[in-house]
Amino acid sequence: MSDNKQEALLTEPLLVADHVALDLLNTESRSGEQYVDFWRSGDDVLHWLARCGIDAGQPGGGAAKDALLHDAKELRAIVRELVERRKNGERGNPDQLNLYLATRQSAPVLEWGEDGPVLARRLPSPSAQQALGRVAEAAAELLANGQFEYVRQCEHPECVLWFYDRTKSHRRRWCSMALCGNRHKAAEFRKRTRAAS
Ligand SMILES: [Zn+2]
Repeated sequence: MSDNKQEALLTEPLLVADHVALDLLNTESRSGEQYVDFWRSGDDVLHWLARCGIDAGQPGGGAAKDALLHDAKELRAIVRELVERRKNGERGNPDQLNLYLATRQSAPVLEWGEDGPVLARRLPSPSAQQALGRVAEAAAELLANGQFEYVRQCEHPECVLWFYDRTKSHRRRWCSMALCGNRHKAAEFRKRTRAAS
């Protein structure tokens, strides 16, 4: 099986970034020369949110799902621009991201359990808007507090996926060892055997 075929079999985005804001970017990918957008419908976005453990409630009919798809893609483009700017040491404009952050509204709430009072926060009931707000907050958190020397793109020349390198040695090179790590190894092996023959 060729490398490209293997990639074409991916029907949903990999969740390998170790940060939800970067997994967001990885919902767009590349297979060889071909651009791949794993989000083709609101259901794709809902499915991705669920895989990330983010509850989006029960958005109503087709129009609500279309709106979710539109907003999710917009947020993704906003985050991509800011992450790339931050990575390049440029200044970004956070205005658009702040619109998504503004949907995050929670109130402090005192809960008095058996072990005494605990201060928690009460979030509004889950909704598509809240879910995207949460993704936006993760992105803002990354931009403000992330260590950007560990925010990197996969080293494979045909791969555009991002990850947050949380390994102890901080020498992670690939989006996924199974995918690009092996592609690299196979290419190195071909190079060596060609050189030997
Ligand atoms: Zn890769």
